[in-house]
Amino acid sequence: AGLRDCVPGLDVGDAFSVIGKPSLLPPEEVNGSREATEEEIAARQELIDILSGRSMIVPFDENGKPVSAPWSLRYSGHQFGVWAGQLGDGRAISVLTTPHPNDPELVTEIQLKGAGRTPYSRNADGLAVTRSSIREFLAAEAMHALGIPTSRSLTLISLPGIEVWRERVETACIAARMAPSFLRVGSFEALNPPTNMFFIGGYQQLSHWEGLRVLGEWAGRRVLRLEGVKWEGENKTVWGKKLVLETAKRNAKMVAGWQVYGFMHGVINTDNVSILGLTIDYGPYAFMDVFDSWHVCNHTDEEGRYSYKRQPEMVFYAVQALLRSVAPIIAAEEELGGKAISEGWANVDEKKLEQWSKAGQESVRSEVKQVWDDTYDEEYARLFRRRLGLRKGLKSDETGIFKRFLDLMEEHNLDFHSTFRKLSAFRSSYIQGDDEKLNVFISHLLESTPRPGKLDQEKASADFKAWLTKYSHRIFEEREEWSNNSQEEIDALRAKEMNGVNPRFVLRQWVLEEAIARVEKDAVSGRRILAKMATNPYEPWGAEGVDEEVCTSGEVREERKY
Ligand code: AMP
Ligand code: MG
Ligand code: MG
Repeated sequence: AGLRDCVPGLDVGDAFSVIGKPSLLPPEEVNGSREATEEEIAARQELIDILSGRSMIVPFDENGKPVSAPWSLRYSGHQFGVWAGQLGDGRAISVLTTPHPNDPELVTEIQLKGAGRTPYSRNADGLAVTRSSIREFLAAEAMHALGIPTSRSLTLISLPGIEVWRERVETACIAARMAPSFLRVGSFEALNPPTNMFFIGGYQQLSHWEGLRVLGEWAGRRVLRLEGVKWEGENKTVWGKKLVLETAKRNAKMVAGWQVYGFMHGVINTDNVSILGLTIDYGPYAFMDVFDSWHVCNHTDEEGRYSYKRQPEMVFYAVQALLRSVAPIIAAEEELGGKAISEGWANVDEKKLEQWSKAGQESVRSEVKQVWDDTYDEEYARLFRRRLGLRKGLKSDETGIFKRFLDLMEEHNLDFHSTFRKLSAFRSSYIQGDDEKLNVFISHLLESTPRPGKLDQEKASADFKAWLTKYSHRIFEEREEWSNNSQEEIDALRAKEMNGVNPRFVLRQWVLEEAIARVEKDAVSGRRILAKMATNPYEPWGAEGVDEEVCTSGEVREERKY
């Protein structure tokens, strides 16, 4: 499946414009004024053809048999907490995997999103449009730059010749993205669905026990690379529980990153939760502006299921869905040992499988929850501490420092990222008698409120004075962590570290809007800006025409008539 099937007879050869990494830019742009050589042009065209679904790579073995061909994965899932049956993947096609140069077992899968219909597209077109592809491209790279586990972006290929009807007519645009694997919780649910009922206009899904084992062993061995498991032979060991615990751990770390960096995914359906704990499927996502812990970035999410505050709970919901899917294997392993879980393992009566399904969940449910909570709390505290420039982990921080800081931001309508960024200018001496400077600093912090008229300046100042006093005590308490420097030196060091983890540039909605408009107007200049935007959130890049103001929310910007 691919573009050629989607639009028969289409010749899009000259219509492409590519947005991507330097090696994919037109050679004359990379090399200054030098003309591209014929080989360079041909190599680039070959890549474009592959990354747009126009031609395929089919590796052959020594006997001349094809080893693989582009593929789409089948998966199901719970959408907004409701079982939705088989869902996809209706618009993702993986074209190849490529081994890591130093570790051939570690592969990167290159997947096209929006290259046309797949066997799972049903009635939809399988295409993606410029707007959504740019959003996905930039978000994944921004998340990576922030250190949050995510799929990566490779290219965008716009196809001005193909018009796609969404809410308006838009241009088709194929994104290529990368991850070690795009397996998700829904991949497992597809093989052990919670119900076998028919859907109107849909499929009847039945359990595929053998498939469940094969997928689980693949995921555990090749994707998660679980430690301490023997996968073959007489001494084959159990893996079901480890698989679920590992996915729980990775996803707990991921969503801790989302919370500390104010990222909202918007559609945490179980088919959008990666087995690897990578952020995947960027749809209606948003980065926090003015802090609102109940913010919902998906306008179809009426009950606020995927609001900022509920994200950890919702990712955990997906982990539980994985546990439910794998549960019969977990219980069978407990009863029969790892070796018994091989071909034909589920050739027992329905009643036995039902028992295993129940027992498997019951036996590890509390351990999964424990691992989830511990990992999440630890990672959340680690990242939050880093953003505040603190080195030592203290139990009391969660309520005493972090939560209070967020509550103040929320109560006084402060911009999430600007407030963190500005905090690096705090100096301990402000608390030790330099009241005037403290007041100046606090008014600087409060400048990130979008409605200055509505700010209760007096209350906000008093609140922040109290918090900053605590903060400075906390800084003083851990002075030995900073190798005997003077307080002044510590302040300077801390500021430097904070500026390396608190982004100056945030991929806000209005920034995205401007980027999309720019690309739609002029793909060539838009392309350079996109590449730059995606990669370095910590440094100013005024030379490209975007300066410090990018740090502020859209509302602030409007009021300042930016
Ligand atoms: P999402 O909510 O984006 O995760 O979408 C769920 C599933 O809907 C996808 O995995 C696809 O199978 C299907 N889908 C969404 N958009 C399209 C499209 N344009 N063409 C075909 N299938 C689609
Ligand atoms: Mg999806
Ligand atoms: Mg999607």
